[in-house]
Amino acid sequence: MESRPKVVKSARLLLLAAVIIGASAYAATEVTKYGVHDMNRPRPTVVTPPASIGQPPSDAIVLFNGTDLAQWQKGNGADANWMIVDNDYMVVPKKAGGIQTRKSFGSCQLHIEWRTPEGVPARVKGQSRSNSGVFLMGRYEVQVLDSYTDDNYQSNYTYADGQAGALYGQHPPMVNASRPAGQWQSYDIAFMRPLFDSNGNCIRKARVTIFHNGVCIHNNLEIEGTTFHKRKAAYSAHGEGPIQLQDHGNPMCFRNIWIRELSEEPYLIK
Ligand code: MG
Repeated sequence: MESRPKVVKSARLLLLAAVIIGASAYAATEVTKYGVHDMNRPRPTVVTPPASIGQPPSDAIVLFNGTDLAQWQKGNGADANWMIVDNDYMVVPKKAGGIQTRKSFGSCQLHIEWRTPEGVPARVKGQSRSNSGVFLMGRYEVQVLDSYTDDNYQSNYTYADGQAGALYGQHPPMVNASRPAGQWQSYDIAFMRPLFDSNGNCIRKARVTIFHNGVCIHNNLEIEGTTFHKRKAAYSAHGEGPIQLQDHGNPMCFRNIWIRELSEEPYLIK
């Protein structure tokens, strides 16, 4: 019985060490603190903005501009096999499988444009209606679907946490800003990656802000973990991951995809 307090004490020390290690990994970005209006504080990197909103700024990595799929691959590492049309957009061929960026990312700003096919019969409903998805870090799905409705969901509906713009299985978009099938739509996503300590515990959940066709549908939303179908979200520790585009069996189109890697913004005032 006497050994029990020691075990508890050791466990507490281990836990404390884990917290310190986790916190120090996070605090590693907090190098210098500055006074208010400190003239010695480094000024931000200059970025040339795009000529028009939606185009990539000078520090963006262009993931797809209509010419080639060099930045993309299949899950097994083979070359991406989606079809490029008119030097403008890519389309998902039948049974092609999903694709993902060759490079991995953490926190980022992502711009992507997508189009659901026209002429899908009204009897095709719910999750079968032009489904795809944009996966952040290969795990967190922002749903892509034909969720346009002109009769307040009488004829086209699905579960709310699975419609276009939903953090799949977690949060519906705050509003439905969908355009009709056949029209180009856009997502502008600001994503903050989750952080894990050395024991794999999540010490900061991921967050996401999303504009759908210019309309804010998520505002600094906390992500509950990896998105699943019919299963509650949960975190498991991971490093950076690719942007993935889902093949859900529908001939979806994507174009003008670019990403900016975002740094941490620790509080730096003394
Ligand atoms: Mg999907």
